[in-house]
Amino acid sequence: MLPDDFRAAGHKVIDWVADYHAHVEDFRVLSQVKPGEICDGLPDSPPQQGDSVTNILPDIERHVLPGITHWQSPNFYAYFPSNNSGPSILGDLVSSGLGVQGMLWATSPACTEVEMKMLDWLVQMLGLPEHFLNSSKHGGGVIQDSASSATLCALLAAREQATNGQTNEEGCRLPLVCYTSNQAHSHVEKDVKVAGLGRKNLRLIDVDQEFAMRPEALERQIVEDKAAGKIPFFVCATIGTTSSLAIDPIPEIAAICKRHGLWLHVDAAMAGTAALCPEFRWTHNGVELADSYAFNPHKWMYTNFDCTAFWVKDRHALINSLSVVPEYLRNQASEQGEVFDYRDWHVPLGRRFRALKLWFVIRHYGVEGLQHHVRQNVAWAQEFAAWVKADSRFELVAPHPLSLVCFRLKSGDAASEQLLKRANESGKIFISHTKLDGKYVLRFSIGQAKTERHHVEAAWKLISDLADRS
Ligand code: PLP
Repeated sequence: MLPDDFRAAGHKVIDWVADYHAHVEDFRVLSQVKPGEICDGLPDSPPQQGDSVTNILPDIERHVLPGITHWQSPNFYAYFPSNNSGPSILGDLVSSGLGVQGMLWATSPACTEVEMKMLDWLVQMLGLPEHFLNSSKHGGGVIQDSASSATLCALLAAREQATNGQTNEEGCRLPLVCYTSNQAHSHVEKDVKVAGLGRKNLRLIDVDQEFAMRPEALERQIVEDKAAGKIPFFVCATIGTTSSLAIDPIPEIAAICKRHGLWLHVDAAMAGTAALCPEFRWTHNGVELADSYAFNPHKWMYTNFDCTAFWVKDRHALINSLSVVPEYLRNQASEQGEVFDYRDWHVPLGRRFRALKLWFVIRHYGVEGLQHHVRQNVAWAQEFAAWVKADSRFELVAPHPLSLVCFRLKSGDAASEQLLKRANESGKIFISHTKLDGKYVLRFSIGQAKTERHHVEAAWKLISDLADRS
């Protein structure tokens, strides 16, 4: 494609995306297609002759849009926020346009150095400890594709530290054990399997009535494991669990980790963005005691997937666990130890220039614009919770200090499930569910970039009207 053809087609594609965003509210939020329907609509064989991009666009409308659940709809309240924004899309476009492969500093110094700077900006923006700064002596931050990968890297660094690098050399021979709460995200279990530690060596620690990890239960389990000859080495605590946004008591957990010599990773994938606002920083108490920490700008900070910010207190522990240097990647800058080579900070070798979208987002909105987004969402969630509380048919089932409200119909599981089904079938909103204390619970997660107060109000009216029929 010649540059002028690209320019012409590019303008049409940008127009299409802008129109999609302007009208995304008009779509039924949840896709209605049946399994296989999208596949059946596409040709069985690839075209022999090429076509123009402008001919592909109508097929997006015809074949793709019906199978889209509109995550960018202001009426999307399911799972967790999955933000997107104009600046983020454009930053990503520039990254695609440059098409650099940032595996080593030497393969595009700007890719590494803009990322180093963005991660340092985020440390300041969230009030994270200075020892996470890339400009600090030992720590540092990197963009990972996902919180799942961030936890995996923390786990691998902790594993190598606990076994003096022995596992990478010989495979895991020691009885290592790790810990998380029974409310932690399922990726922790997956990471434990990937790291070759064995599912049975992950302890799911009991939680309190607010669904936060019980520190005394954690310590009891560690002591028990030690007495049985095991080697406890890693805890993943959560700030903002997926089910209910519960906040584990990090200071107490960190003290236990210190006493027993365990690595503490803090997963704040969903709620970490709250720390942009000083009034919500209490959620991050104790993070300065963690060995590593991650949050997802791709959830609640106007940045499109994928972009997880991950920091470690000791970058050498991470690099030692992941670095392999083949001859063909050797270069002077790396050998002299003057630069960061981010391919040693995660599993893949190759890496996109993801820091550009962060740069665009932070510069476009400024810290104050991002804080405003969080503050509004939290305020609307508090209003929503107040409406639920005032309605005698409903009950709130978990604390709701941030942007997620967990609630149910007092009349029980079947009625609550029916209500969710009707609400989603209406096409007007999309909400999801979880189970807390064995009960079926509706989750109303506010945080999508286009949601305004009137959307939240209309959603409550719909839920409230449908409740009479459930
Ligand atoms: N941790 C928490 C608390 C989450 O809520 C989620 C996603 O919902 C994840 C981790 C997984 O995030 P990712 O898709 O970035 O791996």
